[in-house]
Amino acid sequence: MQDILQKHFGFNQFRGAQKEVIERLLAGHSTLALMPTGTGKSLCYQYIAHVQKPGELVLVVSPLIALMQDQTQKANEVGLRASFVNSSISADEKEKRLRQLADGLFNIFFVTPERFKKADFLEVILKQKISLFVVDEAHCVSLWGHDFRPDYAKLGPVIDKLGKPTVLGLTATATIPVQKEICISLGLETEKGIVTSGIERPELALRVEEIYGEEEKFQTMYDLMSKHPDQSGIVYFSLIATLENFGRFLQRQKFPFLKYNGDMSPGQRRQNQNAFIKNSSRLENKWMLATPAFGLGVDKPDVRFVFHSEIPSTLESYYQEVGRGGRDGKPAQAILFYDEDDVSIQMQFLDWAYPEKNFITKVYFLIQDNFERVSQQGFDFLREQMLFKTKKDYRVQSAVSILTRWGCLEEVDTLFGYRAVQPPEDSLFTEENQDLLKKEHQKKLLTILQWVKNTDECRMKRIYLYFGHYIEKPCGVCDVCTQ
Ligand code: ADP
Ligand code: MG
Repeated sequence: MQDILQKHFGFNQFRGAQKEVIERLLAGHSTLALMPTGTGKSLCYQYIAHVQKPGELVLVVSPLIALMQDQTQKANEVGLRASFVNSSISADEKEKRLRQLADGLFNIFFVTPERFKKADFLEVILKQKISLFVVDEAHCVSLWGHDFRPDYAKLGPVIDKLGKPTVLGLTATATIPVQKEICISLGLETEKGIVTSGIERPELALRVEEIYGEEEKFQTMYDLMSKHPDQSGIVYFSLIATLENFGRFLQRQKFPFLKYNGDMSPGQRRQNQNAFIKNSSRLENKWMLATPAFGLGVDKPDVRFVFHSEIPSTLESYYQEVGRGGRDGKPAQAILFYDEDDVSIQMQFLDWAYPEKNFITKVYFLIQDNFERVSQQGFDFLREQMLFKTKKDYRVQSAVSILTRWGCLEEVDTLFGYRAVQPPEDSLFTEENQDLLKKEHQKKLLTILQWVKNTDECRMKRIYLYFGHYIEKPCGVCDVCTQ
C-alpha cells in the first residue's frame, strides 16, 4: 500500500484514517468515514480507482456542480481518467461523455444525485461494473444534517439497483444521530461501518469576543485585518447586507478584499473563489468576505484567520467554517464576534429560512413563467412580486435554495443563476416538514448560544463532545483555556 501511495500520489505516509478506510474497502466492507476537512478524503476513493480491475469504475456522487470540475481535475492530476456530467455542460458534450463512459474510457466519474433520475444516464451506468460507490459530503443524506438534499436520501435504492457495490460515505461533520441516519439510508452497518480519524484540529485557536454594535464590530475586525494584510483570512457574515456594509467600510479604509455571496452570479463567485485559492500571493486576494455559501470543498492550506461577524446558527456550520483555517497544520485563529443583538437576527433569519408551502410554490412558478425577467432582474423581481418590497426579508432566497436542494431549480450562468426544471411535488413538502425542521434548528441555535456563553470549559472539548468525541486534555489555546 505504501508503494502504491508513493507511486500514484507521491506521499510517504497515509493520513488519519486513510489506510484503515482503504483496507476496509479493499476487503469489500462498506464504510462511513468521518474525517476532518482537508485531511484527504478524496485519496481514499482515488486509491481504489488506481487499483481496481480494468474496466471497473469508481462512481462519485457530489452535491455541488461547483465542486465537480475541481474534483475531476484533481483526479486527472493523480493520473486517473476522470470526467463528470452535470447541468452546466452542453447537451452535445454530455452525450459525448456518456458515450465515452459506456465505452469504458473513464475509471472515475462524478455526478450529482439528481442524475440518477435521468434515463440516458441510468441506461449507461447500469451496464458498468462499479467497484466503489462514493457518497461525498454524506451528511446531505440526513434531514437533520445542515444540508439535506432529498435526492441524497434516495441513494439507497440507487445502490441496490446498481447491484450493491461497496459504498464509501464521506463527511467531515456529523453528530451521532446524523451518523446513524447516514448508515441506515445507505445500507451500512451502524456500529462497525463507521471509521473516524478523530475530528481534532489542535492548530485552531477558538475565541469569542463580545462586541456592542456594528461600529465597534467593524472597527475591531478591521484593526485585526490591517495588522495582517499579507495573510489570508475569511470573514463570515450571516447577512449579505452586513457583508456589503463591511465591504464599504473597508473601501473607505482602502483595504482590499474579495467577496462571495448569493447576490453574485455563479461566474463572479467562481472567479473570486479562484482568486482567493489560486492567486493568493497578491495582496488584493488575501481577505474574503463571504456568506456560509462559501467554502464547501475549498481547499486552501494557509488560511490564518476565520472571523464570524455574527453568531452562526448551528455548531455544525460553525465548526465546518472555522475548519477552513490552518489546514497546513500551522496555528490559525478563529474569532467569533458576539453581539447579543445578533441573536435576534438569527431568530428572525430562522423564521425566514423555513417558508410555507404556498410561498415556495409561488416562487417556483414565478421563476418558471418569467424566465426572461427573472434572468435579468433576479431576486429584485421576485422580491417585488412576493413581498411588496420589504427588502430585508430573506424568504425568497430561502425558497430558491430549498427549490435548488430539491432539484426543482438548476444552477445556470446568468445574473440570477437559476432556471426552472420541474415544480415541487407534494411529497417533498411532507418528507421535509418545514415546521419540524424549524423547531430542530431553534434547538441548535440554543446549543451554540450556550457554547458562546460558556466560560469555564474548553471550547474545543465541548465541540468534540457534540460530535461524540471525548478528549482528556483541554485544547490549551482557546480563550477559555488561556484566560
Ligand atoms: P477533504 O478531506 O477535505 O476532502 P482533500 O481530499 O481535498 O480533503 O485533500 C486535501 C489535501 O490533502 C489535498 O491537497 C491532498 O493532496 C492532500 N493529501 C491527501 N492525502 C495526503 C497524504 N497522505 N499526505 C499528504 N497530503 C495528503
Ligand atoms: Mg472533499
